[in-house]
Amino acid sequence: MAEPRDDMTPFEAVTFFFDAVADQVGLDDQTHAVLAGTYREIRVQIALRRDNGSVETLYGYRVQHNGARGPYKGGVRYHPHADLEEVRALAALMTWKTALVDVPFGGAKGGISVDPTSLSMTERERMTRRFMGQVSYIVGVNRDIMAPDMNTNAQTMAWMMDAYGQRVGHTPAIVTGKPVALGGSLGREAATGRGVVMVLDELMRDDNRQPSEQTLAIQGFGNVGSWTARLASEQGYRIVAVSDVGGAITSSAGLDIEHLVAHARESGSVVDFPGSEPLDPDELLTLDVDVLIPAALGEVITKSNADRVRARYIIEAANNPTTPVADRMLADAGVTIVPDILANAGGVTVSYFEWTQNIQQFSWDESRVNDELGRHMRSAYRQVRDYADAQGCDLRHSAFAIAVQRVADAAHLRGYV
Ligand code: NAD
Repeated sequence: MAEPRDDMTPFEAVTFFFDAVADQVGLDDQTHAVLAGTYREIRVQIALRRDNGSVETLYGYRVQHNGARGPYKGGVRYHPHADLEEVRALAALMTWKTALVDVPFGGAKGGISVDPTSLSMTERERMTRRFMGQVSYIVGVNRDIMAPDMNTNAQTMAWMMDAYGQRVGHTPAIVTGKPVALGGSLGREAATGRGVVMVLDELMRDDNRQPSEQTLAIQGFGNVGSWTARLASEQGYRIVAVSDVGGAITSSAGLDIEHLVAHARESGSVVDFPGSEPLDPDELLTLDVDVLIPAALGEVITKSNADRVRARYIIEAANNPTTPVADRMLADAGVTIVPDILANAGGVTVSYFEWTQNIQQFSWDESRVNDELGRHMRSAYRQVRDYADAQGCDLRHSAFAIAVQRVADAAHLRGYV
Protein backbone atom coordinates (compact mmCIF):
# COMPACT_ATOMS: atom_id res chain seq x y z
CA MET A 1 0.00 0.00 0.00
CA ALA A 2 1.30 3.51 -0.83
CA GLU A 3 2.64 5.67 2.00
CA PRO A 4 0.71 8.86 2.76
CA ARG A 5 2.56 12.18 2.58
CA ASP A 6 2.54 14.91 5.21
CA ASP A 7 1.71 17.71 2.85
CA MET A 8 -1.32 16.25 1.06
CA THR A 9 -4.02 18.70 0.00
CA PRO A 10 -7.57 17.82 1.11
CA PHE A 11 -8.42 16.35 -2.31
CA GLU A 12 -5.19 14.34 -2.38
CA ALA A 13 -6.11 12.98 1.04
CA VAL A 14 -9.58 11.83 -0.07
CA THR A 15 -8.04 10.39 -3.25
CA PHE A 16 -5.53 8.51 -1.07
CA PHE A 17 -8.36 6.80 0.84
CA PHE A 18 -10.10 6.03 -2.47
CA ASP A 19 -6.91 4.64 -4.05
CA ALA A 20 -6.34 2.44 -1.01
CA VAL A 21 -9.44 0.35 -1.88
CA ALA A 22 -9.25 0.48 -5.68
CA ASP A 23 -7.37 -2.82 -6.04
CA GLN A 24 -9.50 -4.63 -3.50
CA VAL A 25 -12.66 -3.55 -5.31
CA GLY A 26 -11.05 -4.58 -8.60
CA LEU A 27 -11.34 -1.23 -10.40
CA ASP A 28 -9.87 -1.31 -13.88
CA ASP A 29 -7.76 1.68 -14.91
CA GLN A 30 -10.51 3.37 -16.92
CA THR A 31 -13.08 3.15 -14.12
CA HIS A 32 -10.43 4.31 -11.67
CA ALA A 33 -9.75 7.40 -13.79
CA VAL A 34 -13.45 8.30 -14.04
CA LEU A 35 -14.14 7.89 -10.32
CA ALA A 36 -10.94 9.66 -9.24
CA GLY A 37 -11.77 12.86 -11.12
CA THR A 38 -14.56 15.39 -10.82
CA TYR A 39 -17.30 15.86 -13.42
CA ARG A 40 -17.67 19.65 -13.28
CA GLU A 41 -16.07 22.49 -11.34
CA ILE A 42 -17.08 26.10 -11.52
CA ARG A 43 -15.80 29.26 -9.94
CA VAL A 44 -18.09 32.26 -9.98
CA GLN A 45 -17.38 35.88 -9.23
CA ILE A 46 -19.66 37.50 -6.68
CA ALA A 47 -19.61 41.28 -6.71
CA LEU A 48 -21.01 41.99 -3.27
CA ARG A 49 -22.36 45.44 -2.55
CA ARG A 50 -21.61 46.18 1.10
CA ASP A 51 -24.03 48.15 3.24
CA ASN A 52 -21.73 51.19 3.00
CA GLY A 53 -22.08 51.24 -0.80
CA SER A 54 -18.65 49.78 -1.66
CA VAL A 55 -18.35 46.65 -3.80
CA GLU A 56 -16.22 43.67 -2.70
CA THR A 57 -15.16 40.97 -5.15
CA LEU A 58 -15.66 37.46 -3.73
CA TYR A 59 -15.38 34.02 -5.32
CA GLY A 60 -17.70 31.04 -4.94
CA TYR A 61 -17.33 27.42 -6.04
CA ARG A 62 -19.47 24.44 -6.91
CA VAL A 63 -17.92 21.08 -7.68
CA GLN A 64 -19.93 18.11 -8.97
CA HIS A 65 -17.86 15.00 -8.37
CA ASN A 66 -19.86 12.00 -9.59
CA GLY A 67 -23.51 11.56 -10.57
CA ALA A 68 -23.65 7.85 -11.40
CA ARG A 69 -26.13 7.09 -8.60
CA GLY A 70 -28.34 10.18 -8.85
CA PRO A 71 -28.43 13.99 -8.82
CA TYR A 72 -25.36 15.73 -7.35
CA LYS A 73 -25.88 16.55 -3.68
CA GLY A 74 -23.93 18.48 -1.09
CA GLY A 75 -23.72 21.48 1.19
CA VAL A 76 -22.37 24.97 0.74
CA ARG A 77 -19.98 26.50 3.26
CA TYR A 78 -18.98 30.10 3.89
CA HIS A 79 -15.42 30.17 5.23
CA PRO A 80 -12.19 32.09 4.58
CA HIS A 81 -10.44 28.77 3.77
CA ALA A 82 -13.10 27.56 1.30
CA ASP A 83 -11.36 27.17 -2.05
CA LEU A 84 -11.61 24.92 -5.08
CA GLU A 85 -9.27 22.31 -3.62
CA GLU A 86 -11.20 21.97 -0.37
CA VAL A 87 -14.59 21.98 -2.11
CA ARG A 88 -13.35 19.31 -4.53
CA ALA A 89 -12.36 17.07 -1.60
CA LEU A 90 -15.70 17.58 0.13
CA ALA A 91 -17.58 16.85 -3.14
CA ALA A 92 -15.76 13.51 -3.50
CA LEU A 93 -16.58 12.62 0.10
CA MET A 94 -20.26 13.25 -0.70
CA THR A 95 -20.15 10.73 -3.56
CA TRP A 96 -18.82 8.03 -1.23
CA LYS A 97 -21.14 9.04 1.62
CA THR A 98 -24.38 8.95 -0.37
CA ALA A 99 -23.37 5.57 -1.81
CA LEU A 100 -22.51 4.18 1.62
CA VAL A 101 -25.85 5.07 3.21
CA ASP A 102 -27.55 4.07 -0.03
CA VAL A 103 -29.46 7.23 -0.88
CA PRO A 104 -29.95 7.89 -4.61
CA PHE A 105 -27.61 10.86 -5.00
CA GLY A 106 -24.18 11.65 -6.37
CA GLY A 107 -21.68 13.96 -4.71
CA ALA A 108 -21.16 17.73 -4.85
CA LYS A 109 -20.07 20.59 -2.62
CA GLY A 110 -19.97 24.36 -2.75
CA GLY A 111 -18.40 27.22 -0.92
CA ILE A 112 -17.72 30.91 -0.86
CA SER A 113 -14.32 32.14 0.26
CA VAL A 114 -15.41 34.76 2.78
CA ASP A 115 -15.23 35.55 6.48
CA PRO A 116 -18.94 35.41 7.32
CA THR A 117 -18.42 37.22 10.62
CA SER A 118 -17.54 40.32 8.58
CA LEU A 119 -20.99 40.40 6.91
CA SER A 120 -24.24 41.93 8.09
CA MET A 121 -27.46 39.95 7.63
CA THR A 122 -28.40 41.97 4.54
CA GLU A 123 -24.92 41.46 3.05
CA ARG A 124 -25.20 37.70 3.66
CA GLU A 125 -28.56 37.68 1.92
CA ARG A 126 -27.28 39.60 -1.12
CA MET A 127 -24.21 37.35 -1.35
CA THR A 128 -26.32 34.18 -1.09
CA ARG A 129 -28.80 35.32 -3.75
CA ARG A 130 -25.95 36.32 -6.10
CA PHE A 131 -24.25 32.95 -5.63
CA MET A 132 -27.46 31.03 -6.32
CA GLY A 133 -28.07 33.18 -9.40
CA GLN A 134 -24.57 32.42 -10.73
CA VAL A 135 -24.80 28.64 -10.21
CA SER A 136 -28.48 28.32 -11.14
CA TYR A 137 -27.51 27.08 -14.62
CA ILE A 138 -25.92 23.91 -13.26
CA VAL A 139 -28.25 23.05 -10.37
CA GLY A 140 -31.75 21.57 -10.52
CA VAL A 141 -34.10 19.24 -8.64
CA ASN A 142 -32.86 16.31 -10.73
CA ARG A 143 -29.39 17.74 -11.34
CA ASP A 144 -27.78 19.23 -8.20
CA ILE A 145 -29.34 20.03 -4.81
CA MET A 146 -27.60 22.22 -2.20
CA ALA A 147 -27.79 22.11 1.63
CA PRO A 148 -26.29 23.84 4.70
CA ASP A 149 -22.71 23.32 5.89
CA MET A 150 -20.31 25.46 7.93
CA ASN A 151 -21.71 28.95 8.55
CA THR A 152 -24.81 28.36 6.43
CA ASN A 153 -28.20 27.36 7.81
CA ALA A 154 -31.94 27.10 7.15
CA GLN A 155 -32.18 30.86 6.51
CA THR A 156 -29.42 30.62 3.88
CA MET A 157 -31.38 27.82 2.17
CA ALA A 158 -34.57 29.92 2.23
CA TRP A 159 -32.79 32.73 0.33
CA MET A 160 -31.35 30.23 -2.16
CA MET A 161 -34.75 28.66 -2.76
CA ASP A 162 -36.32 32.07 -3.25
CA ALA A 163 -33.57 33.24 -5.66
CA TYR A 164 -33.92 30.05 -7.72
CA GLY A 165 -37.72 30.31 -7.65
CA GLN A 166 -37.59 33.82 -9.08
CA ARG A 167 -35.87 32.36 -12.13
CA VAL A 168 -37.78 29.10 -12.67
CA GLY A 169 -40.87 29.20 -10.41
CA HIS A 170 -41.53 27.81 -6.92
CA THR A 171 -39.12 24.90 -6.40
CA PRO A 172 -38.70 23.78 -2.76
CA ALA A 173 -36.74 20.62 -3.71
CA ILE A 174 -33.87 22.73 -5.09
CA VAL A 175 -32.34 22.89 -1.58
CA THR A 176 -32.61 20.82 1.58
CA GLY A 177 -32.18 21.96 5.16
CA LYS A 178 -34.81 24.67 4.58
CA PRO A 179 -37.01 26.08 7.34
CA VAL A 180 -39.92 23.70 8.04
CA ALA A 181 -42.33 26.52 7.14
CA LEU A 182 -40.97 26.45 3.55
CA GLY A 183 -41.03 22.68 3.08
CA GLY A 184 -38.06 21.69 5.21
CA SER A 185 -38.18 18.31 6.90
CA LEU A 186 -38.89 17.87 10.56
CA GLY A 187 -35.76 16.39 12.11
CA ARG A 188 -33.32 17.77 9.50
CA GLU A 189 -31.64 20.25 11.82
CA ALA A 190 -30.72 17.55 14.33
CA ALA A 191 -30.13 14.82 11.74
CA THR A 192 -26.34 14.89 11.42
CA GLY A 193 -25.83 14.86 15.19
CA ARG A 194 -28.53 12.20 15.60
CA GLY A 195 -26.77 10.01 13.05
CA VAL A 196 -23.44 10.50 14.87
CA VAL A 197 -24.99 9.31 18.12
CA MET A 198 -26.76 6.37 16.44
CA VAL A 199 -23.43 5.14 15.07
CA LEU A 200 -21.70 5.73 18.42
CA ASP A 201 -24.43 3.68 20.17
CA GLU A 202 -23.98 0.78 17.74
CA LEU A 203 -20.23 0.83 18.20
CA MET A 204 -20.53 0.85 21.99
CA ARG A 205 -23.03 -2.01 21.87
CA ASP A 206 -20.70 -4.09 19.69
CA ASP A 207 -17.81 -3.41 22.06
CA ASN A 208 -19.91 -4.08 25.20
CA ARG A 209 -19.47 -0.59 26.58
CA GLN A 210 -22.11 1.26 28.61
CA PRO A 211 -22.84 4.86 27.48
CA SER A 212 -22.92 6.06 31.09
CA GLU A 213 -19.31 4.93 31.52
CA GLN A 214 -17.98 6.77 28.43
CA THR A 215 -16.46 10.25 28.48
CA LEU A 216 -16.66 12.42 25.33
CA ALA A 217 -14.77 15.49 24.06
CA ILE A 218 -16.40 17.39 21.18
CA GLN A 219 -14.65 19.97 19.00
CA GLY A 220 -17.17 22.42 17.51
CA PHE A 221 -20.53 23.46 18.95
CA GLY A 222 -22.45 24.51 15.83
CA ASN A 223 -25.20 22.50 14.20
CA VAL A 224 -23.41 19.16 14.29
CA GLY A 225 -21.44 19.52 17.53
CA SER A 226 -24.30 20.90 19.63
CA TRP A 227 -26.84 18.32 18.44
CA THR A 228 -24.33 15.52 18.95
CA ALA A 229 -23.73 16.79 22.49
CA ARG A 230 -27.45 17.12 23.26
CA LEU A 231 -28.44 13.70 21.99
CA ALA A 232 -25.37 11.94 23.44
CA SER A 233 -26.01 13.46 26.85
CA GLU A 234 -29.64 12.32 26.64
CA GLN A 235 -28.31 8.79 26.08
CA GLY A 236 -26.22 9.07 29.24
CA TYR A 237 -22.74 9.77 27.79
CA ARG A 238 -20.64 12.17 29.91
CA ILE A 239 -19.44 15.14 27.86
CA VAL A 240 -16.36 16.47 29.63
CA ALA A 241 -15.07 19.01 27.08
CA VAL A 242 -16.38 21.07 24.16
CA SER A 243 -14.98 23.90 22.08
CA ASP A 244 -15.94 26.41 19.44
CA VAL A 245 -14.10 29.13 17.55
CA GLY A 246 -14.08 31.26 20.73
CA GLY A 247 -12.31 28.69 22.97
CA ALA A 248 -12.74 25.45 24.91
CA ILE A 249 -14.20 24.43 28.28
CA THR A 250 -14.02 21.32 30.44
CA SER A 251 -15.71 19.76 33.46
CA SER A 252 -14.63 16.35 34.73
CA ALA A 253 -18.08 15.83 36.27
CA GLY A 254 -19.67 16.35 32.85
CA LEU A 255 -21.17 19.47 31.27
CA ASP A 256 -24.87 20.23 31.58
CA ILE A 257 -25.54 20.33 27.86
CA GLU A 258 -29.07 21.72 27.97
CA HIS A 259 -27.87 24.77 29.87
CA LEU A 260 -24.72 25.00 27.75
CA VAL A 261 -26.83 25.21 24.56
CA ALA A 262 -28.78 28.12 26.09
CA HIS A 263 -25.55 29.79 27.27
CA ALA A 264 -23.94 29.47 23.81
CA ARG A 265 -27.07 30.83 22.13
CA GLU A 266 -27.21 33.86 24.42
CA SER A 267 -23.49 34.67 24.63
CA GLY A 268 -22.37 33.46 21.18
CA SER A 269 -19.84 30.96 22.57
CA VAL A 270 -19.37 28.06 24.96
CA VAL A 271 -16.62 29.93 26.86
CA ASP A 272 -17.34 31.19 30.40
CA PHE A 273 -20.05 28.59 30.95
CA PRO A 274 -20.76 28.58 34.71
CA GLY A 275 -19.35 25.49 36.42
CA SER A 276 -16.78 24.78 33.68
CA GLU A 277 -13.06 25.49 33.52
CA PRO A 278 -11.28 27.01 30.52
CA LEU A 279 -9.21 24.61 28.41
CA ASP A 280 -6.54 25.17 25.77
CA PRO A 281 -8.48 24.36 22.54
CA ASP A 282 -5.59 22.28 21.17
CA GLU A 283 -5.62 20.16 24.32
CA LEU A 284 -9.20 19.09 23.72
CA LEU A 285 -7.97 16.75 20.98
CA THR A 286 -5.50 15.02 23.27
CA LEU A 287 -7.61 14.77 26.45
CA ASP A 288 -7.82 11.48 28.28
CA VAL A 289 -11.37 10.58 27.16
CA ASP A 290 -12.97 7.46 25.73
CA VAL A 291 -14.42 9.14 22.64
CA LEU A 292 -13.15 12.13 20.68
CA ILE A 293 -15.61 13.78 18.27
CA PRO A 294 -14.20 16.41 15.89
CA ALA A 295 -17.26 18.37 14.70
CA ALA A 296 -15.78 21.56 13.22
CA LEU A 297 -12.96 21.94 10.70
CA GLY A 298 -11.05 19.53 8.49
CA GLU A 299 -7.41 18.47 9.01
CA VAL A 300 -7.33 18.91 12.79
CA ILE A 301 -5.84 15.50 13.68
CA THR A 302 -2.47 15.52 12.00
CA LYS A 303 1.04 14.14 12.25
CA SER A 304 1.81 16.79 14.86
CA ASN A 305 -0.80 15.68 17.42
CA ALA A 306 -1.88 12.12 16.49
CA ASP A 307 0.72 10.53 18.76
CA ARG A 308 -0.76 12.43 21.71
CA VAL A 309 -4.41 11.42 21.10
CA ARG A 310 -5.52 9.37 24.11
CA ALA A 311 -9.11 8.60 23.08
CA ARG A 312 -9.93 4.97 22.33
CA TYR A 313 -12.47 5.98 19.66
CA ILE A 314 -12.72 8.87 17.18
CA ILE A 315 -16.08 9.56 15.58
CA GLU A 316 -15.56 11.88 12.59
CA ALA A 317 -18.59 14.17 12.75
CA ALA A 318 -16.65 16.80 10.75
CA ASN A 319 -15.60 16.15 7.18
CA ASN A 320 -11.99 15.19 6.57
CA PRO A 321 -10.76 15.85 10.16
CA THR A 322 -7.95 13.24 10.09
CA THR A 323 -5.05 13.46 7.63
CA PRO A 324 -3.89 10.18 6.04
CA VAL A 325 -0.60 10.24 8.00
CA ALA A 326 -2.48 10.68 11.28
CA ASP A 327 -4.96 7.99 10.24
CA ARG A 328 -2.10 5.52 9.82
CA MET A 329 -0.52 6.52 13.17
CA LEU A 330 -3.83 6.13 15.00
CA ALA A 331 -4.56 2.77 13.37
CA ASP A 332 -1.13 1.54 14.51
CA ALA A 333 -1.94 2.77 18.03
CA GLY A 334 -5.18 0.75 18.04
CA VAL A 335 -7.58 3.71 17.93
CA THR A 336 -10.93 2.89 16.29
CA ILE A 337 -11.97 5.63 13.85
CA VAL A 338 -15.50 5.85 12.49
CA PRO A 339 -14.90 7.68 9.19
CA ASP A 340 -16.73 10.85 8.18
CA ILE A 341 -18.54 9.19 5.28
CA LEU A 342 -20.35 6.99 7.81
CA ALA A 343 -20.37 9.08 10.99
CA ASN A 344 -21.87 12.29 9.58
CA ALA A 345 -24.10 10.76 6.87
CA GLY A 346 -27.29 11.42 8.87
CA GLY A 347 -27.54 14.93 7.40
CA VAL A 348 -27.62 13.88 3.79
CA THR A 349 -29.91 10.96 4.63
CA VAL A 350 -32.58 13.29 6.02
CA SER A 351 -31.87 15.69 3.15
CA TYR A 352 -32.92 12.81 0.90
CA PHE A 353 -36.14 12.43 2.92
CA GLU A 354 -36.73 16.19 2.59
CA TRP A 355 -36.23 16.10 -1.17
CA THR A 356 -38.57 13.11 -1.41
CA GLN A 357 -41.25 14.88 0.65
CA ASN A 358 -40.96 18.02 -1.52
CA ILE A 359 -41.31 16.05 -4.75
CA GLN A 360 -44.35 14.22 -3.39
CA GLN A 361 -45.73 17.42 -1.82
CA PHE A 362 -46.31 15.46 1.35
CA SER A 363 -44.72 15.74 4.78
CA TRP A 364 -43.67 13.08 7.25
CA ASP A 365 -43.95 13.38 11.02
CA GLU A 366 -40.70 13.56 12.96
CA SER A 367 -40.87 10.03 14.34
CA ARG A 368 -41.04 8.65 10.80
CA VAL A 369 -38.01 10.74 9.81
CA ASN A 370 -36.01 9.54 12.83
CA ASP A 371 -37.07 5.89 12.36
CA GLU A 372 -36.05 5.89 8.70
CA LEU A 373 -32.79 7.66 9.59
CA GLY A 374 -32.06 4.95 12.13
CA ARG A 375 -32.71 2.26 9.54
CA HIS A 376 -30.21 3.78 7.07
CA MET A 377 -27.54 4.56 9.67
CA ARG A 378 -27.69 1.21 11.48
CA SER A 379 -27.70 -0.73 8.25
CA ALA A 380 -24.68 1.21 6.93
CA TYR A 381 -22.83 0.78 10.22
CA ARG A 382 -23.56 -2.98 10.24
CA GLN A 383 -22.32 -3.41 6.66
CA VAL A 384 -19.15 -1.43 7.37
CA ARG A 385 -18.42 -3.32 10.58
CA ASP A 386 -19.12 -6.76 9.08
CA TYR A 387 -16.96 -6.07 6.01
CA ALA A 388 -14.14 -4.80 8.25
CA ASP A 389 -14.35 -7.89 10.45
CA ALA A 390 -14.44 -10.22 7.45
CA GLN A 391 -11.54 -8.53 5.63
CA GLY A 392 -9.47 -7.65 8.69
CA CYS A 393 -9.36 -3.96 7.72
CA ASP A 394 -10.24 -0.74 9.53
CA LEU A 395 -13.64 0.96 9.31
CA ARG A 396 -12.49 3.67 6.87
CA HIS A 397 -11.12 1.12 4.44
CA SER A 398 -14.32 -0.90 4.74
CA ALA A 399 -16.60 2.14 4.24
CA PHE A 400 -14.67 3.29 1.16
CA ALA A 401 -14.61 -0.21 -0.34
CA ILE A 402 -18.41 -0.60 -0.02
CA ALA A 403 -19.07 2.90 -1.38
CA VAL A 404 -16.62 2.73 -4.28
CA GLN A 405 -18.01 -0.66 -5.34
CA ARG A 406 -21.55 0.79 -5.49
CA VAL A 407 -20.54 3.82 -7.52
CA ALA A 408 -18.44 1.70 -9.89
CA ASP A 409 -21.37 -0.70 -10.40
CA ALA A 410 -23.71 2.22 -11.22
CA ALA A 411 -21.14 3.78 -13.58
CA HIS A 412 -20.78 0.47 -15.44
CA LEU A 413 -24.53 -0.09 -15.68
CA ARG A 414 -25.03 3.39 -17.14
CA GLY A 415 -22.24 2.84 -19.61
CA TYR A 416 -19.98 5.64 -18.31
CA VAL A 417 -17.06 3.22 -18.54
P1 NAD B 1 -21.52 25.25 11.94
O1 NAD B 1 -21.08 26.46 11.21
O2 NAD B 1 -22.92 25.15 12.39
O3 NAD B 1 -20.59 25.03 13.24
C1 NAD B 1 -19.20 25.02 13.18
C2 NAD B 1 -18.67 25.02 14.62
O4 NAD B 1 -17.25 24.87 14.58
C3 NAD B 1 -18.96 26.32 15.37
O5 NAD B 1 -19.27 26.01 16.72
C4 NAD B 1 -17.62 27.05 15.29
O6 NAD B 1 -17.46 27.99 16.35
C5 NAD B 1 -16.69 25.86 15.42
N1 NAD B 1 -15.32 26.16 15.00
C6 NAD B 1 -14.89 26.85 13.93
N2 NAD B 1 -13.56 26.94 13.95
C7 NAD B 1 -13.14 26.28 15.05
C8 NAD B 1 -11.89 26.01 15.62
N3 NAD B 1 -10.78 26.47 15.05
N4 NAD B 1 -11.82 25.29 16.77
C9 NAD B 1 -12.95 24.82 17.36
N5 NAD B 1 -14.17 25.02 16.86
C10 NAD B 1 -14.27 25.75 15.73
O7 NAD B 1 -21.12 24.01 11.00
P2 NAD B 1 -21.71 22.53 11.01
O8 NAD B 1 -22.80 22.47 10.03
O9 NAD B 1 -21.95 22.10 12.43
O10 NAD B 1 -20.48 21.71 10.39
C11 NAD B 1 -19.42 21.22 11.21
C12 NAD B 1 -18.69 20.11 10.46
O11 NAD B 1 -19.62 19.05 10.18
C13 NAD B 1 -18.10 20.51 9.10
O12 NAD B 1 -16.91 19.77 8.91
C14 NAD B 1 -19.16 20.06 8.12
O13 NAD B 1 -18.64 19.82 6.84
C15 NAD B 1 -19.62 18.78 8.79
N6 NAD B 1 -20.95 18.31 8.37
C16 NAD B 1 -22.06 19.11 8.54
C17 NAD B 1 -23.31 18.61 8.18
C18 NAD B 1 -24.57 19.39 8.40
O14 NAD B 1 -25.66 18.81 8.22
N7 NAD B 1 -24.53 20.64 8.82
C19 NAD B 1 -23.42 17.33 7.62
C20 NAD B 1 -22.28 16.55 7.48
C21 NAD B 1 -21.05 17.05 7.87
